[in-house]
Amino acid sequence: MKLHCEVEVISRHLPALGMRNRGKGVRAVLTFCQQTSRSRSRPQVGSEPIDLHSACLLISTMKDKRGTRYELKENIEQVFTKFVDEGKATVRLKEPPVDICLSKANSSSLKGFLSAMRLAHRGCDIETPLLTLTPVKTSDFEKFKTKMIITSKKDYPLNKNFPYSLEHLQTSYCGLVRVDMRVLCLKNLRKLDLSHNHIKKLPATIGDLIYLQELSLNDNHLESFSVALCQSTLQQSLRSLDLSKNKIKALPIQFCQLRGLTDLKLDDNELIRFPFKIGQLKNLHFLSASRNKLPFLPSEFKKLSLEYLDVFANTFEQPEVLPIIMLQTPLTLLESSARAVLDNRIPYGPHIIPFHLCQDLDTAKTCVCGRFCLNSYIQATTTMNLHSVAHTVVLVDNMGGTEAPIISYFCSLACYVNSSDMLK
Ligand SMILES: [Zn+2]
Repeated sequence: MKLHCEVEVISRHLPALGMRNRGKGVRAVLTFCQQTSRSRSRPQVGSEPIDLHSACLLISTMKDKRGTRYELKENIEQVFTKFVDEGKATVRLKEPPVDICLSKANSSSLKGFLSAMRLAHRGCDIETPLLTLTPVKTSDFEKFKTKMIITSKKDYPLNKNFPYSLEHLQTSYCGLVRVDMRVLCLKNLRKLDLSHNHIKKLPATIGDLIYLQELSLNDNHLESFSVALCQSTLQQSLRSLDLSKNKIKALPIQFCQLRGLTDLKLDDNELIRFPFKIGQLKNLHFLSASRNKLPFLPSEFKKLSLEYLDVFANTFEQPEVLPIIMLQTPLTLLESSARAVLDNRIPYGPHIIPFHLCQDLDTAKTCVCGRFCLNSYIQATTTMNLHSVAHTVVLVDNMGGTEAPIISYFCSLACYVNSSDMLK
């Protein structure tokens, strides 16, 4: 039984000596080994004689291929497994007084390894045959590959697994029609590039890749980006998303919950609108959505603060001269209650109210006054110079313009009148 992971062995004496650990693990291979009399000539950890029949833990690293042995029988003080599903665990030994911190392991292998370690602690036989002490080969460390780039179908691994230690994986031009489930088990992935394939749908489990920062799906057949993904751990991790050259018509309103996004590419899709609340993407610096079918930009667009903006070749409409008035007097019960829920930020969800009402609330319009409106509003269109939200602006058309139409909503006549000066 072998475990490939990163290991850091921390002495519990360090804090007493006023020293701190480096906080960084090194690539290692962990094995169980049987103590033999021959091995007694090697330096042993701890001063007590080692039981001939007990299993030891051997930690081998690139620098120390022969490895360092730690006795296990009745020597484990505690095993910390809170983050075992993330491939992390800490084993606290009695003698020597060290904490062995394991990270970046395959979580199921880690669980198996920890169970075997507990058995060894109790002095039980570990079912797998114990290895005699043989130095770990360099090839064992090659499995700690962190980067793999595949750019043709013939190189795609069909019979063997991807190294679980991968942090950067690119599989382009492989003719993939769906995301390979084996890729979704690579919990250390930070960068995943699936560009130039034929993927139609994304599994929600991409959201379980808790470290994923960059996701490229450029040139696929995607028609949507699911709500589940917008509400996954990607909210914390995702920085860069490339969805260009797909067939996406609209992004869900929850898309704006991906607050960590700094780079977003949506070029060459079929987008008919941006999510209303796009102004919530406060970290966004790079936004491109050229060659889509956007008739207007939402008024929330004004809240963005970008480095680079490209909305070239969209089907922008000329602003209407007259506003569209959809005001209800008096407000319907639905409108009044929807406004009350949203203005008071009362939590709602499909477990409390019907799903269609949730959708209505999700797509409610925001007035310039900050209040919300559902079906009773005044709609007005104006133009905005895109330089007011971005340093670098790609021209919106071949005529050299940098102005784009903006659609605004007003909850009442008073709000419209008050801001009509601004509209001019
Ligand atoms: Zn208002």
